[in-house]
Amino acid sequence: MENKLSFYNTLSRKVEQFIPNEDGKVAMYTCGPTVYHFAHIGNLRSYIMEDVLEKTLRYAGYDVKRVMNITDVGHLSSDADTGEDKMLKGAKREHKTVMEIAKFYTDAFFADCAKLNIKTPDVVEPATNCISEFIHMIEVLLEKDYAYESGGNIYFDTSKLTDYYVFSSQSEKELLVGVRDDVEADDNKKNPSDFVLWFTKSKFDDQELKWDSPWGVGYPGWHIECSCISMKHLGEYMDIHCGGVDNIFPHHTNEIAQSEAYVGHKWCNYWFHVHHLNDKSGKMSKSKGDFLTVSLIESKGYNPLVYRMFCLQSHYRKPLEFSYEVLDNVTAAYDKLVRKIGSLKEDGAVEEAKFAEYRAQFEAALGNDLNTSSAITVLYDMLKADMNDATKIALVKSFDEVLSLDLMAAHAKLEADNGVDAELEAYVLAKIEERKAAKKEKDFAKADAIRNELLEKGIVIEDTREGVKWKKA
Ligand code: AMP
Ligand code: ZN
Repeated sequence: MENKLSFYNTLSRKVEQFIPNEDGKVAMYTCGPTVYHFAHIGNLRSYIMEDVLEKTLRYAGYDVKRVMNITDVGHLSSDADTGEDKMLKGAKREHKTVMEIAKFYTDAFFADCAKLNIKTPDVVEPATNCISEFIHMIEVLLEKDYAYESGGNIYFDTSKLTDYYVFSSQSEKELLVGVRDDVEADDNKKNPSDFVLWFTKSKFDDQELKWDSPWGVGYPGWHIECSCISMKHLGEYMDIHCGGVDNIFPHHTNEIAQSEAYVGHKWCNYWFHVHHLNDKSGKMSKSKGDFLTVSLIESKGYNPLVYRMFCLQSHYRKPLEFSYEVLDNVTAAYDKLVRKIGSLKEDGAVEEAKFAEYRAQFEAALGNDLNTSSAITVLYDMLKADMNDATKIALVKSFDEVLSLDLMAAHAKLEADNGVDAELEAYVLAKIEERKAAKKEKDFAKADAIRNELLEKGIVIEDTREGVKWKKA
């Protein structure tokens, strides 16, 4: 297959041509949500852009298999190994069990995704389904001497790797500051950067979900989930792994460490990271109280797809600041765009050469490190270009396979409305003719009855010098 797509690879720190391991096929993995609360619209920025990436690959002809985990255990309050389990915090907050919380917020997450036209990945696997796989991987890491037991927990030994900090040119010290700001040192670790694979002892002994393991009753660390779940469904080689930039360290760094130690070769070739959505006060966070959700923006009267368009108008590798003023502007632009598309008429055959020309331009924009705002510009240019409406409609439908903005919605509605209007018009005109005939027969009672019948249906008729006119009341 011809490789037309290039993306920025966090691993090589370059925009690189995308070449999957197997021709025509893509093995793709996404770090799923931690289901202890609603997703904020920042989280959803990452999932929107990953959805566009998946759809771009499909648009280019790849057969994509995309896998996502649901983090329902092991993600502690800091992304490293300290703090309370986020799920347990959610359960306490709402006086529910961890599994009730997990079910409720998993459903809420997919409901938000549906409103944003984010496709559900081919495989979605909750971490709590895979405990035996986690235990197996940890056993192998212990056998290979990449892991050790200390103070009741199993740790990954980062000193066994020649290059643990694969993503970063930053020094070890700088990176550790980021993680360890609010974190006390764990004396069980041989090296400060070591991380937990399995907990049997933590400060939070009231952990609700625990499982038997060869090392005692406990629960898995967060990072092991993604390594195991991706390998369970995609095998030992992966093409693209996605997440938000905050996942780069320590989560993805740790995933690579343990996965490559386990399989003994390079694991994933491309790492795709979406930059953060911020609000005026900085990074969006769930601990800030009233955080921004899809339901909140919907309750303020915004169409969730306008938020999707807001995300598509900027590049995924730039931080994006959210404001209602910008969302208002995008709403106006979206409504205008959809109205314009709604006014297109099926007026003949698709002009194939024009179709191919604009489809190629659209694909080239996306293939240029997922330049979604350029792809939208191609859409606007195409709508202004010299070609028949049928070709424009075909192109809008085609582009919307990736943009997923329901661009044809107004068109479909208008067509439906036109259908109703045509039916209504035919009925009213027939009644007007009937009334004319009654008047000619001097049957004024019948003529008045027809007028009243129409009035009951909300139609007002008027006798004018130019003939009978009608309108909706
Ligand atoms: P979590 O539910 O915390 O595991 O996060 C789900 C996804 O959202 C991960 O890929 C994070 O990297 C991503 N994420 C977290 N905060 C933001 C943000 N403010 N903007 C964009 N993505 C984010
Ligand atoms: Zn992950």
